[in-house]
Amino acid sequence: MINTKNGSGVISSYAEYYGVNPDSGKPYRLVGYEYLIEPLNSMENRVVLQKAAQVGATVMAMMRVMWFLEHRQKSAMYLFPTHRTADRFRRGRFSVMVQRSPVFQSIVKATGAPGHLRVGAAQFYCHGARSRAELMSVPVAYLTLDERDELYKAAGLEGTPWSAVDLARQRLAGQPDSWELSLSTPTIPGYGIAAEFAKSDQRSFLVNCPLCNRITDITWPSAVFGIDGLPHRAQFGCPRCQRPWTTEQRRELIHNGKWAPQVGGQQTHGYQLSQLLSPVAKADRLVQQWQDAQGDPSALQVFHNSVLGLPYLAEGARLEMATIEAAIARGNGASMASSACTSMVGSMAGIDVGPQFLHVVIAAPVEKMCRILWAGVALQWAELEILLNQFQVRSYVIDAQPETHEARRLVAKRAGGWMCYYRMGIGSQPHYDTAQHVLRAPRSETQDALYHAWNTGRIIAPINLPSEFAEQLRSPVRVVRLDRRGVPRVDYLEAGGADHYAHSMNYCLLAMSCAGHAQHMEIYGMSG
Ligand SMILES: [Zn+2]
Repeated sequence: MINTKNGSGVISSYAEYYGVNPDSGKPYRLVGYEYLIEPLNSMENRVVLQKAAQVGATVMAMMRVMWFLEHRQKSAMYLFPTHRTADRFRRGRFSVMVQRSPVFQSIVKATGAPGHLRVGAAQFYCHGARSRAELMSVPVAYLTLDERDELYKAAGLEGTPWSAVDLARQRLAGQPDSWELSLSTPTIPGYGIAAEFAKSDQRSFLVNCPLCNRITDITWPSAVFGIDGLPHRAQFGCPRCQRPWTTEQRRELIHNGKWAPQVGGQQTHGYQLSQLLSPVAKADRLVQQWQDAQGDPSALQVFHNSVLGLPYLAEGARLEMATIEAAIARGNGASMASSACTSMVGSMAGIDVGPQFLHVVIAAPVEKMCRILWAGVALQWAELEILLNQFQVRSYVIDAQPETHEARRLVAKRAGGWMCYYRMGIGSQPHYDTAQHVLRAPRSETQDALYHAWNTGRIIAPINLPSEFAEQLRSPVRVVRLDRRGVPRVDYLEAGGADHYAHSMNYCLLAMSCAGHAQHMEIYGMSG
């Protein structure tokens, strides 16, 4: 048995002594991955890893958990965004790691409950963040949040993106020496792992250049030469003396590299890991990926997030203030209406149901444009009905959740209503249930259509919109992420706070689409 007192190198020695790499089935080795040694051995209570894809971070996190369970003999939870990811992890990587290691195999015991194992007296829970019951059940002393930025997609829990993380963190309550490790590929600045990293001491990996004997970091693009040239000519090299490194020199200097905090006075240790540090990184491949991404905001986002491990806000990812101002200018100084105008064919409404208010947007089609007549909040359902009647609303779409009962009562009572459920899956199709007045619409596609309508100048807005209107409409940020198979997938992240008006406006356009105005409005077509 190796020495397991607190001290440097304890967990890495343990991992190399007993651990198995689940991806190769071979003994766990840190050769080439020396940048993982410090975070692996960290005895800090809070550790944040903002990382590129495929830098070895998840296996490192598993080794930490095994050490903690065995040597601290306290319970640990490893949290994934979904039940499915957690299940795949357990059946795949985790079980390979345990089966191939005689020591792990002898100490890890099944309990009969899926996702619940035992190591001596310590419980190990490996769960998906969407299961409220699983999150509520147990106290733990070590929480690992993997694929952290995807946890936001677990927003189904009360509609607040943080609730999964918060619920899991409540499990740490009352454990004075609790540990937490968050690791994720970042998405946009100020969001998820990037927000956590910004509050940490922001460590960066420093190396000593053997050619000029100066300390440098290894960052894009300064440590890669020839990013605009032929990819096969690209080389890694020293940003300070501008001389290329041989493969051996590069491996040697990474082997001897050290993490150094860039910000003082922070308790949380944060590590930023890019693929440039990885032993399998190739300069020509990085440059090829970079060149292929030029002119494509989505591909640039993937490059920054997955290759460099950096947050990135793509051009056009968020609605510009100037676009909203242009829509107001198109209204020629008109104020919000107080009731239906006789000249109109009828108006449409979208209603977002929040915990306190009903956010309402009422609009009418004007030739190929959409004129916003009124936007505001209703405090009560009765008030909402009065509004709908006042504007002679012909078609309206309302959030089916969380007040499903009230929404159902409304659409049953007042004509022209649809309860809307967003569909999240890739390529999911819109669906009407005319008998139940239920509409199922793909979330990202409808949001793409909403912002397309704004960006192509099809919205006319009054001058006196509610003060939060613009802010809320600009809250969602469009991001493109790669799924497990490397397929790009569009998501809108609620990055700038509340986004009620963004949803009520989206529902309002869906209501126009339901009323048959989709085609010439070029908005999301629900009729097909
Ligand atoms: Zn140098």
